Amino acid sequence: MTDDTATPDVLIAGAGLSASLTALCLAARRPGLRILLLDRRAEPGRDHTWSFHDPDVTPESRVWLAPAIAHHWAGQEVRFPAHRRSLPTGYNTVTPGALRDAVAAQPDITVRRAEVAAAAADALHLSDGTTLRAPLILDARGQRKSPHLALGWQKFTGLELQVPDGHGLRHPVIMDATVAQRDGYRFVYCLPFGPDGLLVEDTRYSDHATLDAASCAADAMAYAQEQGWAGATELRRESGVLPIALALDARALWSAQAGGAVPIGLSAALFHPVTGYSLPMAVRAAEVIAASPRLDTADVMTRLRDFALERAREQSFLRLLNRMLFRGCPPDERYRLLERFYRLPVPVIERFYADRLTWADRLRIVTGRPPIPLHRAAACLAERPLLSETRE
Ligand SMILES: Cc1cc2nc3c(=O)[nH]c(=O)nc-3n(C[C@H](O)[C@H](O)[C@H](O)COP(=O)(O)OP(=O)(O)OC[C@H]3O[C@@H](n4cnc5c(N)ncnc54)[C@H](O)[C@@H]3O)c2cc1C
Repeated sequence: MTDDTATPDVLIAGAGLSASLTALCLAARRPGLRILLLDRRAEPGRDHTWSFHDPDVTPESRVWLAPAIAHHWAGQEVRFPAHRRSLPTGYNTVTPGALRDAVAAQPDITVRRAEVAAAAADALHLSDGTTLRAPLILDARGQRKSPHLALGWQKFTGLELQVPDGHGLRHPVIMDATVAQRDGYRFVYCLPFGPDGLLVEDTRYSDHATLDAASCAADAMAYAQEQGWAGATELRRESGVLPIALALDARALWSAQAGGAVPIGLSAALFHPVTGYSLPMAVRAAEVIAASPRLDTADVMTRLRDFALERAREQSFLRLLNRMLFRGCPPDERYRLLERFYRLPVPVIERFYADRLTWADRLRIVTGRPPIPLHRAAACLAERPLLSETRE
């Protein structure tokens, strides 16, 4: 890392996931740029792990992303009351340590601790009164409320456990929905980091954003005991309340950014509508930025906005699925939609997570025996009324 931060080419408010990935992509694709990230936290991204499926990122993206990937598995599985399945789709986890080391290995990227009070098109104004300027200003300060987005929630608490006699899992369990259903669609997610270490996350797709972390943690520990992982001890804990998009007015959301810094990551609502995961979108957005001929705020804003509007159009189907899940299905029945989804062919499931569904895939997902009664499905079709509710 360099100390030469006097005249950066790119200034980023925040040094979390999207900021770090954008900086790594710029360093790889546009070498020589001086990039400065400012974060209020001493250890940005601490107590997160960010995972993704192999097909979520292209082989070209993987080239610059690879140093941040700490774990890779060759397959994964899901478990439902009436259906269990192993899938041959590889899975990956980026850890805060690996991400930090990947960034620190780039001589042209600097990360500094600072509270950003305001992000403008040409400057970041810090809370200590300092103003820093650069041709390109990005705002990566994370999730924010928007009247142009109606949401459900994926909330979870994960425990990283040490299991003295080993846990026996070879691959991640992406969803174990054989557990009692509560607070919406509930499942447990397990990532085996080593023979005796794993992350066990108790997750709910809920109508409410309030997370009872203590009770989720107790449920995760009870699950570990039910699996026979005797003597499991907690090493670390992570919690999240992720946005699940039921309705979005992307045009209005981007109009509200006009004239300011370019939002990236969750602050630009760049996440998978059904999972709330943002890593794959952050990778794609970083490449849009790196491909901008002029790396200034105005040019990048136009290109990223076009990308985001196109994604929002393509994702309208995913938001419809969310409305069917959250508004068309009683909370304790929601797991049935996922159980049915996981009977589809592997390529359809992979394209669903990678946000690259074809029209044939979409048809395949909604045809067959309706997962919810037709009158309830019909009531979920319109997106606009939910936005009016949000704005009231
Ligand atoms: C525990 C957890 C696990 C997750 N797991 C996954 C996963 O497996 N896969 C996936 O794709 N997604 C996952 N997500 C969802 C999403 O990808 C993450 O939330 C991701 O970190 C969002 O990236 P971001 O850059 O938008 O925001 P963040 O990574 O949250 O970064 C925002 C940064 O801005 C800083 N900041 C905020 N305000 C200011 C300010 N005023 N001045 C200076 N700095 C400021 C914050 O300190 C923070 O470091 C997870 C989320 C959580 C919470």
